[in-house]
Amino acid sequence: MVTEQSFIMVKPDGVQRGLVGDIIKRYEQRGYTLKGLKLMNVDKSLAEKHYEEHQGKPFFPKLVDFITSGPVCAMVWEGKNIVAAGRTMIGATNPQASAPGTIRGDYGIDMGRNIIHGSDSVESARREIGLWFPEGLAEWTPVAKPWIYE
Ligand code: UDP
Repeated sequence: MVTEQSFIMVKPDGVQRGLVGDIIKRYEQRGYTLKGLKLMNVDKSLAEKHYEEHQGKPFFPKLVDFITSGPVCAMVWEGKNIVAAGRTMIGATNPQASAPGTIRGDYGIDMGRNIIHGSDSVESARREIGLWFPEGLAEWTPVAKPWIYE
C-alpha cells in the first residue's frame, strides 16, 4: 500500500504571485493524492516551530518574518516516494541552482523568496503534518489509483 506523505506549503510569495493553482496542478497531474489543503495566516510560534532546526542561524529572523507576512497554502500530498520526488519537483534551496522545470527553477530568483516548502525526510514530514494539520487529513482513495500504480 502507498502511504508516504509529504507536507508541501506554498509560501507567501507564491500565494501573492498567484502560483497556487500551478503548483497544485503539478502534483495532481503527476498522480499524487491531495490529503489536506488550507490557506492560512501563520503566527510566529508556528513559524518558529516549523523552522526550529534553523533557530540561531543568521537568516532565521528574516525567515520567520517572511513566513508570517501573508497567507500560505498548506498541503499534504500522498503517494509513492512523495517526499523525495516532491523535493525533486521543487528544486534546490537556492532558485538560481534549480533546474528549469522545477518549481523554484521556473519561478524563483532569491533564496529568501523561493516560493515553496517541501518536507526533506519521511520523519520531518510526519512532524510537519502533525504541526500544520492537528485536525487530521481527508480520507479517500482516488479511483484513478490503478491507472497510476502498476
Ligand atoms: N533560507 C534563507 N537563506 C539561507 C538558507 C535558507 O533564506 O541561507 C530560507 C529559504 O527560504 C529556505 C528556508 O530558509 O527555503 C529553509 O531552509 P532549508 O535549508 O531547510 O531549505 P529547503 O528545505 O526549504 O530547501
